Amino acid sequence: MSTVYLSNSMQRAVEELAKLPGIGKKSAQRLVFYLLKIPRDEVISLAKSLVDVKDKASYCSICFNITEKSPCSICTNSKRDRSTICVVEEVNDVLAFEKTGEYKGLYHVLGGALSPLDGIGPDDLKIKELLARLNNEEVKEVILANNPNVEGEATALYLAKLIKPLGRKITRIARGIPVGTDIEYADEITLTRALEGRITY
Ligand code: ZN
Repeated sequence: MSTVYLSNSMQRAVEELAKLPGIGKKSAQRLVFYLLKIPRDEVISLAKSLVDVKDKASYCSICFNITEKSPCSICTNSKRDRSTICVVEEVNDVLAFEKTGEYKGLYHVLGGALSPLDGIGPDDLKIKELLARLNNEEVKEVILANNPNVEGEATALYLAKLIKPLGRKITRIARGIPVGTDIEYADEITLTRALEGRITY
């Protein structure tokens, strides 16, 4: 093992970095070597920015997006369309939709998807909080933008059943075959969704 050659402090830094998602031990080592090469100021600035994020960021009390000030800037923006709530699994999904610049409504971040095998049930997600928001007559449509996988589909179905009696329009985002993918390589869920979301020419 190459890590035997690392000093104790380096070893510890590698172990800490390797805990981060998407960072294996090799990448962690590369990062540590990189940190050793750059000026001390830059390392301090990096470390400080991480602690700052942790100290200042929290969840929006309404939509559970990450924010420094709750409610978040989307929930408090009077220009947003308050009649539509787009339900997503993670904060990253909000960023993805915001990047498109197409969506002008509000969001609700569930914090994951139902997954009985992983012990994630309805109470582990912000479902009660979503239903509470639907007490507001202003909300006319709920867009279910759960991920197109087994857990996401099951969660969307579960939510649709809960919301239906409340008399709101419920839509599921249409997903097609990703550009550059042949139909034969698409999985069933993607293909079914692509068919369901077909548009009229
Ligand atoms: Zn918010």
